[in-house]
Amino acid sequence: MKPFEYQRVSDPNDAVAAVAGNPKAKFLAGGTNLVDHLKLGITTPELLVDISRLDLTEVEELENQGLRLGAMVRNSDAAAHPLIRRNYPVLSRALLSGASGQLRNAATTGGNLLQRTRCVYFQDLSTACNKREPGSGCSALDGYTRYHAILGASPHCIATHPSDMAVALTALNATVVVWGPDGERRIPISKLYRLPEDHPERDTVLEHGELITAVELPPPSGARSTYRKIRDRASYAFALVSVAALVDVDDSGPTPLIRDVAIALGGVAHKPWRAERAEAILRGSEPSLEAFRRAADAELQGAEPVAGNAFKVQMARGAITTVLAELTDLQEADHE
Ligand code: SF4
Repeated sequence: MKPFEYQRVSDPNDAVAAVAGNPKAKFLAGGTNLVDHLKLGITTPELLVDISRLDLTEVEELENQGLRLGAMVRNSDAAAHPLIRRNYPVLSRALLSGASGQLRNAATTGGNLLQRTRCVYFQDLSTACNKREPGSGCSALDGYTRYHAILGASPHCIATHPSDMAVALTALNATVVVWGPDGERRIPISKLYRLPEDHPERDTVLEHGELITAVELPPPSGARSTYRKIRDRASYAFALVSVAALVDVDDSGPTPLIRDVAIALGGVAHKPWRAERAEAILRGSEPSLEAFRRAADAELQGAEPVAGNAFKVQMARGAITTVLAELTDLQEADHE
């Protein structure tokens, strides 16, 4: 590990000023991802600005009945919060599916959103990686791709975003509140993350020195919601495919109809993937396994798997169908 300066701050303005004033400075929150990167040499900052003591640890109900999570709320506290468990089960379940108990005790809301890909080549300095070293190439293209993208990738990078929480927040239409040198910005989470295109080194639209201070959730809609994660072992593993979904069924008429639906996929793209095509097909339709499969197929029509990860297309199709069936009380016996 290379030596660096360390500065602890207690005010967001000081944090922003310290990082914005030094192009080689970084924020340090829970450190669950960044400290690994320091040890591996993936990042070599001159200055670490410790924001873990910022007073951003509250979960507050908003006037509109939505919820505001401070950026320093620990993942385990968010997962266990009564309002989140009751009104946003998709978020609580996504949080509990991530990492381990110890890591969730340390990881923060803001840090979770900004964790970086676990692509094995990104973490191995002896290999080419455009995300770590722009222009060097992408070792994954001819390598190990089990955890890599099937949607929205580019010839420069096929990495996936590793956060479970971000997938749930994408389905929930959360807003990310950011404080920076030019004041506050409010970014819909659907606009926070980038696809790799020809700049895979940039994961998000945040500028250097911008600090996530909170995440805001819209008022609970009454929709049922859940999160399902498929992985290689039962815990402490990243998603091969995950699905966060909310479904609101109107059953006041002779035939139940899907009034609204939100679906986000994890483990399939450089960002949490909002399944807008599937949603459009399902809105206003009668819940059925056939409709769910048709919607999943429409979403996955644009999938471009690489050698070694074509299985994820069928896996995503099955996961979408299963989650929607669960949320609409279709019987397991009805599954294919
Ligand atoms: Fe690097 Fe992206 Fe290629 Fe992985 S997939 S080696 S992160 S450029």
